[in-house]
Amino acid sequence: MRPVSIVMCLTLALLSGDAALAAAPQVRTQAPGFYRMILGRFEITALLDGTHPFPVHEVMTRNETTPTGERKAVKLEESHPGKAEALLAASDLPAPVEGSINAFLVNTGVKLILIDSGAGSLYGACCGHLLENLRAAGYTPEQIDEIYLTHLHADHVGGIAPQGKPAFPNAVIRVNQKDLDYWLDVKNESEAPKFLKPMFEGDRASLKPYLETGRLKPFSEGQELSAGIRAIPTTGHTPGHTSYEVTSEGKTLLVWGDLVHVAPIQFPDPAITVTYDSDTVSAEAERTGVFAHAARSATWIAAAHIAFPGIGHIRSVDGRFEWLPANYTTELKPIN
Ligand SMILES: [Zn+2]
Ligand SMILES: [Zn+2]
Repeated sequence: MRPVSIVMCLTLALLSGDAALAAAPQVRTQAPGFYRMILGRFEITALLDGTHPFPVHEVMTRNETTPTGERKAVKLEESHPGKAEALLAASDLPAPVEGSINAFLVNTGVKLILIDSGAGSLYGACCGHLLENLRAAGYTPEQIDEIYLTHLHADHVGGIAPQGKPAFPNAVIRVNQKDLDYWLDVKNESEAPKFLKPMFEGDRASLKPYLETGRLKPFSEGQELSAGIRAIPTTGHTPGHTSYEVTSEGKTLLVWGDLVHVAPIQFPDPAITVTYDSDTVSAEAERTGVFAHAARSATWIAAAHIAFPGIGHIRSVDGRFEWLPANYTTELKPIN
């Protein structure tokens, strides 16, 4: 075929829409896991550590009142068969539901503070992505001055030292003394149920490099740890479980740790607890109290296990609590 004919054929093919276009390969990766909001003069960055299937049937319990008037946790599947599925189905979600592990970075303009650190190497390949998302968000681990842990479960502390190696060379770790006392005590380890035992080993490995270099500094309850950030005891999930109240220019964000594990289940029914709660009755009381206060005061919430970025508000409608996720925006100006 002469060159002029080839050009004619191609032109005809293009005009008739027959031109063969190579299919683009699918990418199959998610966007980098960071989300920014401005709270007064502070910059808040939500960081995703990963998502994993949350086994609602195995771990969800509910506080029920016994004939003697006592409140006691009973497996949800036994006390209310089908309730977990029904509540998830109301949000178009299956069981087990995919859950997020979120951490939150606060840049006060003076200090860079990370609240929780993800699972590091303790949860397998699903998780431990905090460092790559921190870098994607424009920061380096060397820049972190302090890390405030809500409690010493693996998915909150593991990220400070994946594989036992400290990830944050300049950071001081702050954690409630009561959690440290509980999780570093071998007697508690021997008495703990089987599913909790790996947590003790994970805690020792994660905290060791910081302990050895004098960079583990426990605090007592209710303390202001940094200008604008106060430790608020919200015990029940663990003996020293702590939420952090971050305040700037009259705006407040409560980084609440593990007050909620599955939002579509625990907002409609705050009496639903998890087997990981060390004191389910206190955990329920804290959850209900914080829900009511946050709904009244329009406090912003940053949650470890609500779908990333886990930032939003709580609303009370006819006595039922609802989660209102933050509206996505690229306008980085102080929120209302
Ligand atoms: Zn926890
Ligand atoms: Zn957790």
